[in-house]
Amino acid sequence: MPGRVVILGAPGAGKGTQARRMAKKHGWPHISTGDIFRSHVEHKTAIGEKIESFMRSGQLVPDTLACQIVVERLAESDCARGYILDGFPRSVPQALSLDRMLSDRHEALDTVILLTIDDEELIERLAARRTCPHCGKIYNLRFNPPKIAGQCDKPECDGALLVHRDDDQADTVRRRLRVYHETTEPLIQHYLRRGLLQRVDGGASPEVIAEQIESMLTKLGAA
Ligand code: AMP
Repeated sequence: MPGRVVILGAPGAGKGTQARRMAKKHGWPHISTGDIFRSHVEHKTAIGEKIESFMRSGQLVPDTLACQIVVERLAESDCARGYILDGFPRSVPQALSLDRMLSDRHEALDTVILLTIDDEELIERLAARRTCPHCGKIYNLRFNPPKIAGQCDKPECDGALLVHRDDDQADTVRRRLRVYHETTEPLIQHYLRRGLLQRVDGGASPEVIAEQIESMLTKLGAA
């Protein structure tokens, strides 16, 4: 089974939800640069202080910092058998840097999954997205609400109150979408040229998307 996967898509396309499922199913680490950066901000580290204003305003943090975080994370032993990169790369310089990181490790990506969905749907989804600050589980008030309003379902989270991320507020979402179209979308060409890109309709239900991803991974593994 192929294990080096990048998941691409606009904010709210469902990358985090699908990356978590794949990670759980296959035992690959889920590397979300957004989660790593949020943890730095929450713990007020030196990196956290540098990046907080970029994140709050929906801009990308500098490429050098994003690449540094990923190169350090990939060096950890749990990445030896594979990993899912969620939210990285997000710009052409980051993709080129990832190409170098991989060639230094004598590795190659197995696939790049692109979740496609239109902006209006994303704006509505992000307005309704809630996250558990404890376990990171993602809910949507419209189509995947928690069992008890406002609280995480997981027993180990002990009723943790769900949060609406600062950068999921309407104005910031519009800026994040602009950044996605201008800076991240050119990666589609980058990975098409390498024959790695697989498109999945991000407007389908999470279950249907997960099935499509699994059948793609199975086909790649069998190839
Ligand atoms: P996400 O949770 O992936 O939507 O990321 C939240 C925010 O973290 C983004 O809006 C950026 O400010 C920052 N971020 C996450 N990943 C990257 C990256 N690869 N490059 C630059 N900034 C990033």
